[in-house]
Amino acid sequence: MKVPFLDLKAQYNSIRGEINAAIQEVLDSTAFAGGPYVAKFEEQFAAYCGTKYAVGVGNGTDALWLVMLAKGIGPGDEVITVPNTFIATAEAVSLCGAKPVFVDVDSRTYTMDPACLKRAITAKTRAIIPVHLFGQTADMDPILAIAREHGLMVIEDACQAHGALYKGRMAGSMGLAGCFSFYPGKNLGAYGEAGAVVTDDQELAAKIKVLREHGQPKKYIHSVIGWNARMDGIQGAILSVKLRHLPAANEARRAHARQYGEHLAGVAGIVLPVEMPVAKHVYHIYAIRSRKRDELISRLAARDIACGIHYPVPLHLQEAYASLGLPRGSYPVAEESAQEFVSLPMYPELSIEQIAYVCQELEAAVKTL
Ligand SMILES: *Cc1c(COP(=O)(O)O)cnc(C)c1O
Repeated sequence: MKVPFLDLKAQYNSIRGEINAAIQEVLDSTAFAGGPYVAKFEEQFAAYCGTKYAVGVGNGTDALWLVMLAKGIGPGDEVITVPNTFIATAEAVSLCGAKPVFVDVDSRTYTMDPACLKRAITAKTRAIIPVHLFGQTADMDPILAIAREHGLMVIEDACQAHGALYKGRMAGSMGLAGCFSFYPGKNLGAYGEAGAVVTDDQELAAKIKVLREHGQPKKYIHSVIGWNARMDGIQGAILSVKLRHLPAANEARRAHARQYGEHLAGVAGIVLPVEMPVAKHVYHIYAIRSRKRDELISRLAARDIACGIHYPVPLHLQEAYASLGLPRGSYPVAEESAQEFVSLPMYPELSIEQIAYVCQELEAAVKTL
């Protein structure tokens, strides 16, 4: 049996008619860059997230960068985030001219450890970016309390957590702003590049709308220096279709995670993901841990099962961030987990048989490692 890590074709085939009709509508209207299909999706996505505003942008990296740009974060400022994330989180900070400051993560959820956050705050800190890694929200209440105490902004990196909940609150709706990516493989994925910022702050939403369009509040009138960070009309129309299917898709991921958990609970030598009682995990990634990760991945590959690693090298150990001068050992939890993570196949269209096969082969492989 073949089990790919991700199968975007299976997903497209399941909603082919709706998607094709939505794309055709945009083609007929020629509303290609920004425009009514993006505006409609923004309205729907804000309603889904329970925020007043959603602003569509070019991708998730734009979303993070434009929030900070709009809030005037720049040279001399520090922004605290975690080292075990996709590089875009830190890149957006650096692109503003600010300095990313990393803090270690909780050893069970791999999200920002509030105790480490507290120790990292300095007079230069302006904002905190917790990452809702793998589809589970960070422990937001202590993070928000620490931020309030120090007068800091909280910008949620919700790029992996569309529809995740924390104590009943939607990912992206708890801080000043939530940043989403709609990269094709994300829980809500476009068929190309797209992203969004959600917020209740009217002024912030308005500023990002100006910034994403070359700083122009009116055509050819430029009040600030902005950028081109528009969302495509076709992506907006596709995302409107896919948003309707997101709740069912997330439930399917959760059912798959339960099936993995039930099969693998007794298997020695691996660590399974943990869903916090306060959280609703949406399993963008189903990451287990193994001390013999590389061997395990190649054994599974030999059985036609494709796995991933999210992420093999923490950001402070990347060449791109060598200038921060942070040696190995700086963030033990992030570093150890990075050496052990194995992401198992996870997407809504996986079948019960495929998951059973992955579990059976995984158990057999682990026994002989
Ligand atoms: C995908 C992702 C991003 C960046 O989103 P793009 O749309 O690829 O720019 C940022 N942060 C995290 C945690 C992500 O997973």
